[in-house]
Amino acid sequence: MVGICSIAPPPRDAPPSMPARPVPEPTRRISPRWLLAGVMLVVIGFLAICGSVLFSMRQGDERLAQQTLGNLATGIDAEINRNIEMHDLWLREVAANMTVPEVLAATPRMRQLVLFNHATIVRHSGPIQVLDVLGNVTIDSTAPVPKVQNFADEEFFRVHQRDPLAGLYISRPMLHQGVYGIVLSRRIAAQDGSLLGVVTDFIRYSYFHELIARLQLQPDDVITVIRQDGVLILREPFDMDIIGADLSRLPRVEKALASFSGSNLGTSKIDNIERLYVWRDAHNPLIVIVGRSTAAIYGQWRHDALQICGAMCALGLIALAVMLLLMREMKKRAGIEHQMLRFAMTDALTGLGNRRHFDAMLAKEWQRALRARSPLALLMIDADHFKAFNDTFGHQAGDTVLVEIAGCIAGQAQRASDCAARYGGEEFALVLPGLSLAEAIELGERIRVNVEALDAGAAVTVSIGAASLVPSASREPADLVGHADMALYSAKAHGRNQTFPATIRQKWMAA
Ligand code: GH3
Ligand code: MG
Ligand code: MG
Repeated sequence: MVGICSIAPPPRDAPPSMPARPVPEPTRRISPRWLLAGVMLVVIGFLAICGSVLFSMRQGDERLAQQTLGNLATGIDAEINRNIEMHDLWLREVAANMTVPEVLAATPRMRQLVLFNHATIVRHSGPIQVLDVLGNVTIDSTAPVPKVQNFADEEFFRVHQRDPLAGLYISRPMLHQGVYGIVLSRRIAAQDGSLLGVVTDFIRYSYFHELIARLQLQPDDVITVIRQDGVLILREPFDMDIIGADLSRLPRVEKALASFSGSNLGTSKIDNIERLYVWRDAHNPLIVIVGRSTAAIYGQWRHDALQICGAMCALGLIALAVMLLLMREMKKRAGIEHQMLRFAMTDALTGLGNRRHFDAMLAKEWQRALRARSPLALLMIDADHFKAFNDTFGHQAGDTVLVEIAGCIAGQAQRASDCAARYGGEEFALVLPGLSLAEAIELGERIRVNVEALDAGAAVTVSIGAASLVPSASREPADLVGHADMALYSAKAHGRNQTFPATIRQKWMAA
């Protein structure tokens, strides 16, 4: 274990025990990790903003589709139900007039004029027919003498037969007199409520086809018209196989029958396409449900979202790559800086800390000891008659001896807090936090003895000045150096090759 001044690799000529020293903390810098976290935060922030914009764009498209489909449903619904209302008005009139004796007594031609007025000239409709209690056609809006026909077996006739309160009855889509369409019918009732007959009107399917052909629809749009009991009256695109089917159990139809207006997202069992279905004014006799595929609703949004997401991902990756490169560069630079700092604090010859390092570490340990009210010891170590050694053996041999002396000093600086440094020339310093004067002298003696034992071709000795004091606010680190230096001079004066204690006033001296 070596002292806190002991992490730098020893120089080429240094013995293996030569300590390395810690490098003082460089100035605070932004950690690459924090920088990466910052960039990630910015990227995540951008992605969140993009996500939120895309989400609101999607919601906007959905709102627009709801509005468009709602308007479409309202328009179709209004047209169909106004038409049905008009037909119902005629049926009511005919049903009412059929109880007036004068009308019944009139000639067929006259009766036709009174009963049907202009009804016969409406496109896609008719004929209006009056059936007697047995289901026989007795009056026809298109012919003074009706064809012999009987509809007693038809559902619309039987409904009025059994239910006096059926009101306007809209049949399932059916083939009526060779034409496909729906039959509208009303009961003709006597004063006492008994059945006198049934009046029927007919709306051809061509009416619906023409109505829908006028609309501008998207390829996957679906328009469904259902009766109040869920029976399918019309589906566009037209599909003969499902016309008349009971859809009352379909979730969206159930919902439409239960609520006045609304929407539902569902997948059609017929073509497996997911659609948004919208309906309005569901209290009318026929309910219109308009469906548009989600692919058509969100098509443009998906296209835009893909482009934006792609661009964002690419930018995010570029930012990340740039960040990683920057981090690598920063790490490299930090390493170089650390190395430079290490060199700036190291004595090139001995590998010990240099004077700058000594000053910094002494100040640091002084503050620590001041806070802890603990002693701080210092040894000043100087090679004896070194000039003479140089003169005799040359500077290179002198250098080698200096390295060996440094090794002896470092060998005794075993604690993490000990700091050995080359003070200058052939003079060394050893900072020993927590050591009393007696302990410092003891340690100095070990160094001295080790140096004396060096095999350098000639006697090599050192003189050591030892000082220890408890730092106080009124003193400075220089005082400790001064005391140790004075002790060193005393050691020289008393014959060298010895450790001499500093005489510090009792007040300052460590026990
Ligand atoms: P004293 O016992 O009084 O300390 O005598 P001294 O000769 O050691 O002291 P002096 O101050 O007179 O001489 C110091 C010598 O140390 C002179 C110089 O050549 C030598 N010296 C200083 N630095 C180095 C160095 O880096 N390498 C070598 N080889 N010698 C050095
Ligand atoms: Mg000397
Ligand atoms: Mg000297």
